Amino acid sequence: MDYDVIVAGGGPIGCFAARDIAEQGCRVLVLEEHREIGEPVQCSGLISERVLEISRVSNNVVLNKLKGAVVHAPDKNILNLKGDRVYGVVVDRGAFDRDIARQAAKAGAKIYRGKKLISFDYLTDKLIVNTTSGEDKGCAFTCKLLIGADGFNSTVARLLDLAPAQEKVTLFAAEVSLPGFDGHLAHIFLDHQLAPGWFGWLMPVRENIARAGIGCSPLMNHDWRGSPRPMFEKLIAKYPIFKGLEILKTTGGIVPIGYLERTYDTRVLLAGDAAAQVKPISGGGLYLGLKGASFCAATAIKALQKNDFSRAFLKTYQDAWDEDFGLEIKCGLKHREIFLNMDNREIESLTGFLNKPHWRNIILKYGDLDYHSRLAAKLSLAPPWANRFLENGLKALLRGLAQAAECRY
Ligand SMILES: Cc1cc2nc3c(=O)[nH]c(=O)nc-3n(C[C@H](O)[C@H](O)[C@H](O)COP(=O)(O)OP(=O)(O)OC[C@H]3O[C@@H](n4cnc5c(N)ncnc54)[C@H](O)[C@@H]3O)c2cc1C
Repeated sequence: MDYDVIVAGGGPIGCFAARDIAEQGCRVLVLEEHREIGEPVQCSGLISERVLEISRVSNNVVLNKLKGAVVHAPDKNILNLKGDRVYGVVVDRGAFDRDIARQAAKAGAKIYRGKKLISFDYLTDKLIVNTTSGEDKGCAFTCKLLIGADGFNSTVARLLDLAPAQEKVTLFAAEVSLPGFDGHLAHIFLDHQLAPGWFGWLMPVRENIARAGIGCSPLMNHDWRGSPRPMFEKLIAKYPIFKGLEILKTTGGIVPIGYLERTYDTRVLLAGDAAAQVKPISGGGLYLGLKGASFCAATAIKALQKNDFSRAFLKTYQDAWDEDFGLEIKCGLKHREIFLNMDNREIESLTGFLNKPHWRNIILKYGDLDYHSRLAAKLSLAPPWANRFLENGLKALLRGLAQAAECRY
């Protein structure tokens, strides 16, 4: 019942951190509230090949390889971005999670399923973690360090009063049958009336089978009442590409968007969605989450070696991930702000503007599923985007001046 590290959350990020720490010979326990690892699936399973590499997950989970995208503007004009390299792969997300959990168990981590962390308390030289699980009796475990990898609604973060992500985007997603739909291109639908502050998507999985979905941001004030499902119905009614669609399985969830200033406390680290390590433009959380988990594991191992679990020492975790991809998140947030401030007309004029060989080549050359900033930096030079940047920059400057004046008088 006594561990070096307890990880709350047996998702991909928790199991990845557990694997790296257990590989160093430490005693690690993973607590997962659900009875099955990888279930229920709340993901569309689009990742880069980089994610497979760093996670060491077998290529057997790959269902399709995507070589570009078609962007649909609100006026139904399209921007065809068909490339000749693999930009992303569609995976069986349940199998992906189970593979990482197997790796963690093989490294020596114990995984308790059906055990939910409900609270923890500080003792003199350790933490006591309390769990419950439906009809089972609760139990208590002790550890030197606790990792909160318990998703966007992290109990660990809440118990510590750590500030959550500024924005939570709600998604509805489905596995669908779609006669005649196949190939290697993702379809993205931009329309602030249908998908306020987010987008709709359709991705081929295999012949006649696809994944589709839509997201809505609470920051956009449209007639959206909490569930994006009706917006999904409107999306499929609007575009002929969805003709004949039948929903096979539905899912959904929340993606946390923002930059968290503090993802640590005394004896505690947060990783993955719990730390909002998510790409603000696409909501993809696997790449940055796994990178975060790797810094989290490295810090945990050092803390155990030094026997130092102070807040001051654990800040080195925040510093490490911030240096690696903090700027990527902040840059994504800036571009997201511009997107949120655009209306459908501007989106149409931007996609129209980019529909020239020069810009299409730039998108295909610099497009990277994990590093949106690389392409965003190039697109910032496109006049419609550049004007918005200038406008936002000026507004920020004026806001800063007004705040400074308020402070002075
Ligand atoms: C509809 C949808 C589509 C998405 N599509 C993509 C995509 O295509 N590509 C991509 O990269 N990302 C995608 N994401 C985001 C991605 O799924 C997450 O970023 C990723 O799952 C984060 O992993 P995690 O381990 O941090 O959190 P989670 O996967 O949420 O895992 C957290 C785990 O903790 C468990 N847990 C929670 N609380 C407790 C507790 N108190 N005690 C014990 N266990 C607990 C949960 O049961 C869960 O298993 C999508 C998200 C949604 C909602």
